[in-house]
Amino acid sequence: MNIHEYQAKEIFRAHGVPIPPGDVATTADEAEQIARRFGTTVVVKAQVHAGGRGKAGGVKLAKTPAEAKEVASRILGMQIKGITVEKVLVTPAADIATEAYAGIILDRVSKKPVFMVSPAGGIDIEEVAATTPEKIMRLPIDSRYGLRGFQAMELGFFLYKDVKQVRAAAKIMQDLYHAFMDSGASLAEINPLVTTPEGEVLALDAKMVIDDNELDRRPSIAALRDESSEAPSEVKAREANLTFIKLDGNVGCVVNGAGLAMATMDLVKYYGGDPANFLDIGGSSNPEKVVNALKIITSDPNVKAILFNIFGGITRTDDVANGIVTATKANPLKVPIVIRLTGTNEEIAVKILTENGFSAMTDMDEAVKKAVALATGKAA
Ligand code: GDP
Ligand code: MN
Repeated sequence: MNIHEYQAKEIFRAHGVPIPPGDVATTADEAEQIARRFGTTVVVKAQVHAGGRGKAGGVKLAKTPAEAKEVASRILGMQIKGITVEKVLVTPAADIATEAYAGIILDRVSKKPVFMVSPAGGIDIEEVAATTPEKIMRLPIDSRYGLRGFQAMELGFFLYKDVKQVRAAAKIMQDLYHAFMDSGASLAEINPLVTTPEGEVLALDAKMVIDDNELDRRPSIAALRDESSEAPSEVKAREANLTFIKLDGNVGCVVNGAGLAMATMDLVKYYGGDPANFLDIGGSSNPEKVVNALKIITSDPNVKAILFNIFGGITRTDDVANGIVTATKANPLKVPIVIRLTGTNEEIAVKILTENGFSAMTDMDEAVKKAVALATGKAA
């Protein structure tokens, strides 16, 4: 789950990270009032789940409340990477001497939280990683011991020469680590971590991604979800209890089980296609889940063919067949469908499908090839 900058800042602040104050506005008038209250030059910042807001024109300085209003009216409603800006954060502007990067990600290879810091922070950090990776220090953390004092200092020394700033950065690393661990995050990031001309070290941006599997035991974090800034298909899928991730391809995939869903996507790619989504209808499917899955997939205009890949274990393939028939009776399909099913109640499923004008396959490779051919318009 993604959260907004202002929410991540609240979490970081609560763990001791020095961050300028700020308030959220949903209208230009509110932005003006907040700027007036701060009584200084402010930064107006688009709150969307996307990086690169600065480059997209979603981060602007405003010297007066009137200017804050004007800037906010331009940023609110703006599209950044396809997401409409509905809120802005208004925060007193800091003077910047240097911009650094500090982040923690959960690294699935080392199975550890890994710190990444760079003195070359700011809006071009991706560029730094690609062209001068030696400017980034990586430090895996053993979560049994946490970030130890000498390690925090090592990170600080990689960023700064001034010992006061090194100590300030070391404390920020500890605070960031605790924020990361306490929130069930898979990523926590400060970019830029700045020094001011007076020598202070401050976090001016905050980003956090929460591991969805950590939400059940953290209701206060789960409550930070902002559905208005998520893909509508993902919101609908979550309500229907389906595990769904929207992708950019054109083969809509309906599969039971996460492993088979991954294998199906691999095979779609292998045969030259591109999956439109990851979708796991779960172990014990009922017809209603299939109806919901089809609704979500067919509402994506990119989908040019639908591929069902069902291995019936606990899942009864006749349930899936009934779901397909019910869903397509209510909403006739506008794109071709390829159905591969095998396993529990296969004979009943095939009977239901053929009686309703569908054909079913049992071979996974053949089904995937056919779906890819249909999606790319190369079907014989
Ligand atoms: P992002 O582009 O989405 O990562 O948004 P950021 O919050 O990182 O802002 C982008 C850039 O705007 C930063 O790298 C800074 O250069 C600049 N910026 C952000 N906040 C301030 C501020 O308080 N004062 C000044 N002078 N510049 C700022
Ligand atoms: Mn940033």
